[in-house]
Amino acid sequence: MERQVRVRFAPSPTGPLHIGGVRTALYNYLFARQHNGAMILRIEDTDSTRFVPGAEDYINEALHWLGIGIDEGVREGGSYGPYKQSERRDIYRKYVKQLLDNGKAYIAFDTPEELDAKRQEIKNFQYDASTRGMMRNSLTLPADEVKRLIDSGTKHVVRFLIEPDRQVIVNDLIRGTVTVNSSTLDDKVLYKSADDLPTYHLANIVDDHLMEVSHVIRGEEWLPSAPLHVLLYEALGWSETMPQFVHLPLLLKPDGKGKLSKRDGDRLGFPVFPLEWHDPVSGEVSSGYRERGYLPEAVVNFLALLGWNPGDDREMFTMDELIKEFSFEHCSKKGAKFDFEKGKWFNHEYIMNMADDKLAQIFKPILADHVDVTAFSDDYIARAVGLVKGRVNFVSELWDQAKFFFVAPKEYVEKDVRKRWKPETPAIMRELIEVLRSIDDFSSKNSEEIVLGWIKEHDYHMGNVMNAFRLTVVGECKGPHMFDITELLGRDETIERIERGINNIQPIDA
Ligand code: GLU
Repeated sequence: MERQVRVRFAPSPTGPLHIGGVRTALYNYLFARQHNGAMILRIEDTDSTRFVPGAEDYINEALHWLGIGIDEGVREGGSYGPYKQSERRDIYRKYVKQLLDNGKAYIAFDTPEELDAKRQEIKNFQYDASTRGMMRNSLTLPADEVKRLIDSGTKHVVRFLIEPDRQVIVNDLIRGTVTVNSSTLDDKVLYKSADDLPTYHLANIVDDHLMEVSHVIRGEEWLPSAPLHVLLYEALGWSETMPQFVHLPLLLKPDGKGKLSKRDGDRLGFPVFPLEWHDPVSGEVSSGYRERGYLPEAVVNFLALLGWNPGDDREMFTMDELIKEFSFEHCSKKGAKFDFEKGKWFNHEYIMNMADDKLAQIFKPILADHVDVTAFSDDYIARAVGLVKGRVNFVSELWDQAKFFFVAPKEYVEKDVRKRWKPETPAIMRELIEVLRSIDDFSSKNSEEIVLGWIKEHDYHMGNVMNAFRLTVVGECKGPHMFDITELLGRDETIERIERGINNIQPIDA
């Protein structure tokens, strides 16, 4: 029988979620939805020394912003909870005991100083079958001494007993079969008495088992842990229901080699976090995609293609299309270069394709910083936005492109005046006013026909007349199609602006 798909995204709340982590969450989500499975959000907070306040809320908010839905989690609840590891101590204790009782793990008392001394003494020291006999642990100390140490509250850890020289096989849906010799692995710490908590490895395996996780989909950086995890499943008697591993390709620097880091973002000027992050300790602020003006749909589309491809050259995908098309067969083993310019391009495309009224609603708060928005109808704002949206990569840039729709120019760009405002221009502009007054149907197409006809009839210089016209209406010689602008502004406003131009613009001698 096919196993019910249950996947989990399992971040540690040690800071803001990195964009690579977001991609991991996204792939988990796509796979879960594609198979009508469950998407779990599990908070892995067993390392109290690395806990950062606010990080958990940040993770929730970021996933919500991107539309990555969670079925079971701390907020959502679910029948496999608690979903936060620090609330599962009692559960882990039971499995630590089981491993100890079955001789699959042992207790070690070595202090950090003793371990350091050994590292000095033995080159490439590893706590394993070749060295554990020289250390202070329950395998080398008499049983009553072990009991005495524990009873007197001596700090200790529980280590996994790894048998040497076994071939450990990891099956990975992207990487195929990876075989590792167990002698290369060390006897990992599974539990620390100091905080009465398991380490990542044990907690992760116990939870994946108890939460009936079917696929472990995570970043490639966790691949080296996978052989250990395979052995842990075996030691706990859970090999039969071990999840399928899927290790996703790394996100690489846009330039050069290696993993994408926060420093690359700072150096090249792009965010590596989904949302802006205010570090609670240092006060440092790191920029986020949301605050930079990215649309969540564009970020999702961009991230989906970093490591996966549809098998052809299509690039635009909605979340629903991604859910349909996504597959691990089309995920690459090779790392994916983080192409930030491509991210901008996606945002541009999403802005272009977005309905004008929807875009206008996103733009409105920005517009409100500059003008009284109640003076403009939603329809007017939507039409203005529609005329300039092709010129921007970010919603925040719309103001600069569209401001003349909301405020008449008070200044005129000098180089355009120099080039286009001649001594004879005011007289021609006065004539233009009369032409415009005579037009009943002020639609773009009709007024264009009439105005161009008038220019030709008088043999005026097309470029000079049209650019002088534009200068009075826009304040500079750029912007969308002139008659689309005047249609939206309306005849009165257009004529008023030309009059103001005639009164205020002085020719500048070349
Ligand atoms: N807590 C680990 C992390 O922060 C989870 C790794 C895994 O998915 O197994 O990424």
